[in-house]
Amino acid sequence: MIDLRSDTMTKPTPGMLAAMAAAEVGDEQEREDPTTNELQRRMAELLGHEAALFFPTATMANQAALRVLSRAGCKVVAEEGTHILIWEWGGPAIHSGLVMQGLVADAGRPTPSQIEGLDAFGPGSVVVLENTHNSSGGRIWPLDEFGTVADAVRSRGAALHLDGARLFNAAVAAGLEPAAWGGLADTVAVCFSKGLGCPFGAVLAGSEETIERAWEAKFLFGGALRQSGIAAAAMLYALDHNVERLADDHIRAKRLADGIGIDPAAAETNFVPIPSEPGLTGRLLERGVAVSDLRAGWLRAVTHLDIGDDEIEQAIERMQEVLSVHA
Ligand SMILES: *Cc1c(COP(=O)(O)O)cnc(C)c1O
Repeated sequence: MIDLRSDTMTKPTPGMLAAMAAAEVGDEQEREDPTTNELQRRMAELLGHEAALFFPTATMANQAALRVLSRAGCKVVAEEGTHILIWEWGGPAIHSGLVMQGLVADAGRPTPSQIEGLDAFGPGSVVVLENTHNSSGGRIWPLDEFGTVADAVRSRGAALHLDGARLFNAAVAAGLEPAAWGGLADTVAVCFSKGLGCPFGAVLAGSEETIERAWEAKFLFGGALRQSGIAAAAMLYALDHNVERLADDHIRAKRLADGIGIDPAAAETNFVPIPSEPGLTGRLLERGVAVSDLRAGWLRAVTHLDIGDDEIEQAIERMQEVLSVHA
């Protein structure tokens, strides 16, 4: 099976497992886990903030950020296909008492005028931007556009959270530092169990004060761990070994797109958006290629650490047999 459903399918490599086994650990809740502390120090710098905090998942990091940045009864606003609105089980409403408002926006990118035109929105509310934007096909926020939206959010007195689950993909593809976008937001979350290849783990960065308060949310959600250095060691290993290689995933996504008759420019990072047809997923599965849903009318094939050039060439051959888009 060539599994192109998601970059979450990666399994820890022997090198990563060895780093986990050798991790120096302590009690995270006492802030005595040296490996977690080192991860947090490195990530604060990489994301352009004073402080950073380890979380077991990016879902929890996102929810902690909303809780810290918002006031109950106010709004969380995001493009309608954003992870925080559709894949986190009403968390913003349940954990933070927020009204969830989705915006219709091209490529997952709300415009400054959409933010300026919002009703009942101001201090206590939060805008969430996602980079790369998952449901639009792993699309990258152009930095200048991101900056003008950030300004519009500030002009309304609201806070900005960046869900950068795949921010390293955006950074590698655009040739920028993650901090270029991260530093413009009040908080930024990164997920390590996608293209970075860790079994789990995420980081939230922000000001010292914001991150101190994020600790409270982390305890509240049951996410304050003990010897978290086992996970942090995998994450540090990923920073050293699995960031630059994301460029290979992006090249392979373009090659796959090209091979099946899709404009390679549509694969900005590691997602190939494929127009869906009735029964297509099943027919691909019969030929040993697994893809998943992107959004209404679209499927996605996602490249990752466990997919090499051979798998891509085989996937192209098998997909050509069933894709009408190629004909
Ligand atoms: C996967 C993902 C998350 C959640 O990450 P987990 O670590 O699996 O909880 C959040 N936001 C986006 C955009 C994602 O793709």
